[in-house]
Amino acid sequence: MSADTCPSCGRALDAHNPHVRFTLPDAVLDAPAKDRTPGTWMSHPTARESVMMRVPDIGAFVRALLPIRLTEGHTITFGVWLAVDPGELQSIIAVWWEPEYRHLRLTGRLANAVPPWGMLAAPVEAVVRDTDQTPYCDASEDPQLDRVLRDEWPHDLVLAAVSRG
Ligand SMILES: [Zn+2]
Repeated sequence: MSADTCPSCGRALDAHNPHVRFTLPDAVLDAPAKDRTPGTWMSHPTARESVMMRVPDIGAFVRALLPIRLTEGHTITFGVWLAVDPGELQSIIAVWWEPEYRHLRLTGRLANAVPPWGMLAAPVEAVVRDTDQTPYCDASEDPQLDRVLRDEWPHDLVLAAVSRG
């Protein structure tokens, strides 16, 4: 086994801190016209770049980071969408590019199923940890998601699920 190979799971060590960015919320991905649904608003030209979107009859969504600690100091980071109250989207947009952004707290629900757990629609609180990044998922009233946020996980459990897509 080479020095670049993980003794715990056998994968290359440089494949241990991936960033997995979901392009669309699952409910938008499942819609016939996806992000081309008439009346859709996005913060940027494409869904991939966007940090906020609103899709008629489906909902309002804001991006957040969901870091998951793996054993031996690695971290996999999911760029997820959170479903937020559509009535709150305007107030989120109003602070997003302003100094007050640092105090933004989001209450929403996971809008992507996160492998291997799923947890779609689990409630989550997100806070700003770095003003150059989207908010971070911080805590959840859902026991499973709260454990995922706080515990350390075996490499294979998470990395194998992600590579299966
Ligand atoms: Zn490993």
